[in-house]
Amino acid sequence: MPRIDEKLLPIFDDVLRRNAGETEFHQAVEEVLESLGAVIAKHPEYVDNALIERICEPERQIIFRIPWVDDKGQIQINRGFRVQFNSALGPYKGGLRFHPSVNIGIIKFLGFEQTFKNALTGLPIGGGKGGSDFNPRGRSDGEIMRFCQSLMIELHRHLGEYTDVPAGDIGVGAREIGFLFGQYKRLTNRFEAGILTGKGLIYGGSRARTEATGYGLVYFVDQMLKRKGIDLADKRVVVSGSGNVAIYTIEKITEFGGKVIACSDSSGYIVDEAGIDLDLLKEIKLVRRERIAEYVQLKGTGAYYTEQGSIWDVPCDVALPSATQNELNGNDATSLIRNGVMAVSEGANMPCASEAVRLFQEAGILFGPAKAANAGGVATSALEMQQNASRDSWTFEETEARLAAIMRRIHDDCADTAETYGAPGNYVLGANITGFVRVAEAMQAMGVI
Ligand code: NDP
Repeated sequence: MPRIDEKLLPIFDDVLRRNAGETEFHQAVEEVLESLGAVIAKHPEYVDNALIERICEPERQIIFRIPWVDDKGQIQINRGFRVQFNSALGPYKGGLRFHPSVNIGIIKFLGFEQTFKNALTGLPIGGGKGGSDFNPRGRSDGEIMRFCQSLMIELHRHLGEYTDVPAGDIGVGAREIGFLFGQYKRLTNRFEAGILTGKGLIYGGSRARTEATGYGLVYFVDQMLKRKGIDLADKRVVVSGSGNVAIYTIEKITEFGGKVIACSDSSGYIVDEAGIDLDLLKEIKLVRRERIAEYVQLKGTGAYYTEQGSIWDVPCDVALPSATQNELNGNDATSLIRNGVMAVSEGANMPCASEAVRLFQEAGILFGPAKAANAGGVATSALEMQQNASRDSWTFEETEARLAAIMRRIHDDCADTAETYGAPGNYVLGANITGFVRVAEAMQAMGVI
């Protein structure tokens, strides 16, 4: 496992000092800096021109109060965040997350990752991320709407087709995007479709955006396996989470002939050796908004639910962590390796702890890092922006074909870069270097920004 080059150590120390206590942000920066030793040997000007320091510092961070009234008439206060990380390649682009764990460090780590991910897509989008510590669980539609409207009262002044274009993330799906867009329209008296992505089809959304992150993840995994001469068909797959990314990952794996035998939510996981019944899962999670334990009750025999232990103890060929950051630790990685896993690819952002990534790489397991493997969502958001700008609407097939081509290109760029830098098969290194160099080159061309 590479260590941070000594020329970059003072930069990392500075990041630790200036962002004290933001452990996820430290983890994300460390992982990128570890990949850059060979890059700065080739491009010493990146260090001389303080490009790395500049890339580690967000362009702008906005923190604001979100007051709203719940169904009992009580006033509630949440905190809102938008970190506009880097606009060297295009307007800030990245989702909004509603989850009680949200704080500035989490949003900064996500915005930092997003900058390189967006660069990897090859499309003209910069990096940003936002959200709130609001917990949507158990809230009524009316409460969700009032919360979204209050959030947008502040956020709207920072958005714009050429400035900052948010989308969904954990806890923010089609319902929330609708409330947010409606409030933006009221506040500005303008129908600006290009200020948000993940919109409903009827008012400017893109076909295949809902499916894009999960589908894109599967295209990426398929390419990794193909390069080794392995077919995804008939493989046993475990996918954690049961939200947007997990559901459409399961759908596409099934289309490729693989069998997903386990998935989860934050309360526990289910195993169904016959293959997860996707229609039932969608009914529980997307329609009823219930817990995953319901699956076993409705399915009857053959499936079981576990609250204790880890979903990563379920033997599989391919593991796709698609719930949240640091959900797969070193022990989980050891268990997966012992049980013969051949590929692990990140559907969520940074779901594998650093120790787990190290163990996979040392064991020679194919490992797809999030910034490459889950870039299909933001890539399709950029396709939504293209359709909005040209007031056009493409078919599902056309949009998915573009998504598939983008994912293949991302895969090949990462694989080729890893080879060029003497680390064939190291997709972490390939993704970090490819994304970093694109952002650094654009900033370099624009002077001291
Ligand atoms: P959703 O809110 O739709 O689903 C999240 C899923 O993860 C739920 O099953 C949730 O369970 C579970 N989960 C959330 N927090 C935790 C936790 N602390 N421990 C265990 N399980 C948890 O979110 P998405 O599917 O959209 O996002 C999942 C991941 O993918 C995130 O890391 C996100 O940043 C990333 N991502 C999403 C993209 C998108 O287009 N949506 C694009 C790129 C990345 P529960 O219901 O119990 O909370």
